Amino acid sequence: MTRMCLHRLVLRLTGAATVALAGSAVTNAADCPRQNALGTSRVLAVDAKTYPRVGLGSFPETVPLADHEVVLTFDDGPRPPSTEKVLAALAQECVRATFFLVGRSSAEFPELVRRIAAQGHTVAHHSWSHPMMSKIPFEQAKEDIDRGIAADELALSGVSTETPSTPFFRFPYFDSSPATLDLLQARGIIVFGADLWANDWEDITPKEELTNVIERLKTARKGIILLHDAQARTAAMMPGLLRHLHENEYRIVHLVPAVSAQKNAEVPIDVPTVTSFRAIKTLAE
Ligand SMILES: [Zn+2]
Repeated sequence: MTRMCLHRLVLRLTGAATVALAGSAVTNAADCPRQNALGTSRVLAVDAKTYPRVGLGSFPETVPLADHEVVLTFDDGPRPPSTEKVLAALAQECVRATFFLVGRSSAEFPELVRRIAAQGHTVAHHSWSHPMMSKIPFEQAKEDIDRGIAADELALSGVSTETPSTPFFRFPYFDSSPATLDLLQARGIIVFGADLWANDWEDITPKEELTNVIERLKTARKGIILLHDAQARTAAMMPGLLRHLHENEYRIVHLVPAVSAQKNAEVPIDVPTVTSFRAIKTLAE
């Protein structure tokens, strides 16, 4: 992507989305320290009002992706050393992803949460203790969701708050209930399912896992891919998956939240909109 293309991309985004862009950075292949990297082709700001629930495995709609566009999402981290290996594989290709964190792991490995964010990835939420929400009373489910968000936010910024800085949530096992879905929608938190997955929770080899993804992508041709950075097999598979995506001309889309009107009003929007790509990069680092 040339600077001009990036400039157009910035202009296309709303002021709110531009703020999100500044916080996450585009890493286009041409700007990647490694030559001929896959890169991240575009940033997509997702609004909870337009897309309250996404992922065709659970819901009727998903995020708007073109043919051969994919979104990489990782659940169940942070967990060393596999999360670190996944981060290294993504950094090698200048690819940005979304990590749905388990709160009790964030509390245990806060430095790793900050490293995920520092490398430009989106930090999203996946409960405190990873329960099946439909199997526990609503109040307990609500508490687990809130505690998870607060733990992730505390690790991220030192502030314990149940208002997520990125309002993205994925239910453990995709297991929601009508009441918990309503709760998250009322709070403006987007519920993520997925469009395809690797079955990396099963006892399979990294090669088998890669075959799962490749075959499913052949059919779907695009989509939100669910992986688990907590799984050693996924960490081992990542270089091969990124190589396959590159060789087969898939493009990586990085999801970020559309910033609320209130937050947007607090941020000087002209800073990122008038700065060069280099300055945007600096803001993000
Ligand atoms: Zn999970």
